[in-house]
Formats: sequence, C-alpha cells, structure tokens
Amino acid sequence: MTNSILFWHRRDLRISDNIGLAAANEQSSKVIGVFCLDPNILESEDIAPARIAYMIGCLQELQQNYLQAGSQLIILKGQPTQEIPKLATALNVKAVFWNLDVEPYARERDRQIAQTLKDKGIPIKTFWDQLLHSPNEIASGAKQPYTVYTPFWKNWISKPKTEPVNRFKNRETLTDEEREAINKAGVIPLPTAKDLGFVWDNELMLSPGETAAQERLEEFCHETIFSYKEKRNFPAVDGTSRLSAALKFGAIGIRTVWDATMEAIAGSSSDEAQESVKTWQQELAWREFYQHAMYHFPELADGAYRKVFQSFPYDNNLEHFQAWCEGKTGYPIVDAAMRQLNSTGWMHNRCRMIVASFLTKDLIIDPKMGEKYFSQTLYDWDLSANNGGWQWSASSGMDPKPLRIFNPASQAEKFDPNAEYIRKWVPELRSLSTKQLITGEIPDSQRQKLGYPLPIVEHKIQQRVFKERYNQQKSEVVDVVD
Ligand SMILES: Cc1cc2nc3c(=O)[nH]c(=O)nc-3n(C[C@H](O)[C@H](O)[C@H](O)COP(=O)(O)OP(=O)(O)OC[C@H]3O[C@@H](n4cnc5c(N)ncnc54)[C@H](O)[C@@H]3O)c2cc1C
Repeated sequence: MTNSILFWHRRDLRISDNIGLAAANEQSSKVIGVFCLDPNILESEDIAPARIAYMIGCLQELQQNYLQAGSQLIILKGQPTQEIPKLATALNVKAVFWNLDVEPYARERDRQIAQTLKDKGIPIKTFWDQLLHSPNEIASGAKQPYTVYTPFWKNWISKPKTEPVNRFKNRETLTDEEREAINKAGVIPLPTAKDLGFVWDNELMLSPGETAAQERLEEFCHETIFSYKEKRNFPAVDGTSRLSAALKFGAIGIRTVWDATMEAIAGSSSDEAQESVKTWQQELAWREFYQHAMYHFPELADGAYRKVFQSFPYDNNLEHFQAWCEGKTGYPIVDAAMRQLNSTGWMHNRCRMIVASFLTKDLIIDPKMGEKYFSQTLYDWDLSANNGGWQWSASSGMDPKPLRIFNPASQAEKFDPNAEYIRKWVPELRSLSTKQLITGEIPDSQRQKLGYPLPIVEHKIQQRVFKERYNQQKSEVVDVVD
C-alpha cells in the first residue's frame, strides 16, 4: 500500500476551503484527485447543456490546480460504483476521502461504494463540506428536523460557523509507477461539453472555476451586498450575487462565502447596509434549509409534500406547457423570464417564482413538469433548491401558507415598474407603452402585428378554476398542513 490518499471530487470543484481535501492533505503528503463522469447523471433527462459547460470549465481549472501542486486530477467516465473502487485498487491508496451530499441518488451511490471499498479493505473518510451546518446539526427542541424556515433560521444562525480551511498543497509528486497505474486505470483526457454531446455557445452568467467565483464574491461583497435587500427583487437590476452555480458545484467554499458576509457586516456604513447583508445571509440559510429538507425527507424529490396536491387534478395541457417553455404565453413578464432562462441558463429569483406560479396556478400544470424543465435548462440547477422553490410556488410543500397565487400584472408592476426587463427579453414589444407591457393589456390586432401571441389563458378565470379545484380537493383529502 502506498501513502497516497485518493480524493473524490463531486460537487466541490475547488482546492480552496475544501474540508475533505484539506483533511486528506493533512493526513498524507500525497493526494490524488479524481472526478468521475457519471452516465447516470449525464444521460438522465435532468441535464442542461449550460450546466455541463460550467462544470467542465470548473474541472479544467481544478485540473490545472492539481498539476501545479505536482499531483493529478484523474478523469474517469463510467459507473462510479465500479470506477472509484477500481481506481483505488489500481493505485493501492491508503484511503479514499470525499465530501457528502444530501441528494437521494448520491447517498445511495456513496453507500454502495463505501461497502465495496470496505470489502476490499480500503478505508474511507467522509466529511460535510457543502453546508455550514450538516443536516443532523440543526434540529427542533423535540429533536426533529424543521419543516418551517423561520424556526430553522433562528436555530441555524445561533450556531457558531467554522472558518475556511487551508488551500490544498500537495507535498509529494507522483511516482512513475503511480502515473503508469493511473494510465492503466481507464483515465481519459477531460472532454469538452461538446465531446459529451452538449452544445452551449452562449456566455454563462458567471465564468466557471474557483478564480471567477472568488472574484465574483469579492465584487459582490464590495458593493452590491449593501443594497441587496432593496434591489434583490428587481430582475432588471444587477442586485444579486449570481453565485448560485458556484455554490451548486462547489467552485467556492461556503465558509469562505460566510466569512465574506461577516466582513461585510463589520464594514457596513449604516444599519440599512447591515440589514442587507443579513438578508443575503438568510438566502444562504434557505439553501441549507432545502438541503436539510431533502436529506430528511427524500420523498420530496418524487412529488408534493402536502397530500392535497399528491393527486391534484392538473390539466397538463401540452400546448400550454410548450408555450410556457418557449416564452410564448402572451404574458410579457412570464415570457421575458422564460426567454432569459432559455438564452442564459439562469433566471432571476423573482421571475422563477412568477413563472412557477403561472405554470401551476394559471395553466394548472403539474409542478413536476416545470421542475423538470428547469433541470434541463438551469446552469445552477440544484435538486434541493429547485424542488423547494417549486413546492413553495405550487403551494405543495412544507410552507405553512396554504395558497399563494401571483398575479403576473401586479408582479410586473411592483418589480419591473419601467418594463426594462420585459423590453430586454421580449424585443418585439419594445415599442409599446410601459403600462401595456406591465398589464399585458395589448389589443389582439396589435399583438398580431407585432408577432406576439394572444394570452393562452385568462388569469382571472384560471385563478377561480384553480381555487375551486383546490377547495374541492381539500374537502376530500386530509392535508398535513391546514
Ligand atoms: C421555482 C424555483 C426554482 C429554483 N431553482 C433553483 C435551483 O435549481 N438552483 C438554485 O441554486 N436555486 C434555485 N432557486 C432559488 C433562487 O432562485 C436562486 O438560488 C437564485 O436566483 C440564484 O441567483 P443568485 O446566485 O444571484 O442568488 P442570491 O440572491 O445572490 O442568493 C445567494 C445564494 O443563496 C442561495 N439561494 C438564494 N435564494 C434561494 C432560495 N430561494 N432557495 C435556495 N437557495 C437560495 C443560492 O445558492 C444563491 O446563489 C429556485 C427558486 C425558485 C422559486
């Protein structure tokens, strides 16, 4: 057995502030990295070209960082349950380390790999890295996981947070025998997204890799964070961090992010500025809340949490769904948002809520269809956050507020008051007045002239239909919430 440790990267594509990697670094002078391109993920229906482009970009930088440290990031392609144990055996490593995940698929895969490695006599060590507090650290007085955000937040914020850990520094380079063993173990050169069959030619909201993520964090915490509370809801304004993909793939460590918020609080010039930073911290806690929920209630991934929505009579009109996907519903704010998603792989949070409410409450379409479409388009897609956002918008989740229906016109009026966002993403409507763009009150003849669709449904009518169905359903089903 050699002295090396194999470190398996998954959604922690960085060498800075990486708990598992730093621990491997402490316990061995030689750490070899591995990333496995998993067909269960790459060939699933829940995949987006933009996301693969971002991931491959992160891996490119990670590979460079390993090389500079005199080690190597090995790329494998195949079933991780076979490939990881095979590599560990070929390299004769003294242990395999990795950071844990909350998602049901990852947990089952890891369980199988841990068992195989144990059978082969290869020790493993696992760590919580992607969260400030692991799912078992935050529990109610009755030692139960929280199902409501506010008490979760109070408990979560009261706990001390860990400092960022040391950057990886390999202390011993690979031997010729190790390089040979790596070559024999099925290592492949890092493919491009195109090599894997994914075409994404548009620019990403955030460039991939840890350098770009760190720069973005610094830039955001230098200025925008101080007005986050005021500006975060306006999709035409660059008022949020746009760090979601970096957090999803772990191009930045969550402790580094938290540290930056504490520095920002210390450097705040007013109470409002400090409040803004705290509001942003609460968003980071939402991220953790949804990951904890997925860990404790993995059935969330399969559908509605509330019984009343488990057998809800959705219409699931496929033409309506297609129009929603393409940004052709005839509702300017909804169409603007869907077009932003289709061309950038990202959508502003306010708009994610608007389009999700529209799909589920106006088009009366099963949220699972929207959730899937987001998984096929978002470059920051994260099972827990996406599921949480959809369940919240569809009123099918743990949120204690039973029914929430957004009116697209009032949302546009409040959050895109000058219709800047609508004009940017629905250019055929640019010449119309702000009032028309916000209310959507555009005569049919004008819509036809501009090549813009008629509204596919009537909000007022659909709202009534939805409520009637909901009340009917509620009278028949005993719910877990109300
Ligand atoms: C229907 C729906 C689907 C969503 N799908 C995803 C998804 O697949 N991936 C994803 O990361 N976020 C998702 N969100 C949450 C949120 O919209 C994005 O995290 C946010 O828009 C990303 O932009 P940002 O990085 O500028 O966020 P900021 O406003 O700068 O927030 C900072 C970070 O906090 C986290 N965060 C913020 N809001 C939320 C939230 N409501 N829930 C969970 N985490 C949050 C994200 O990691 C984000 O990067 C979804 C929300 C809704 C309503």
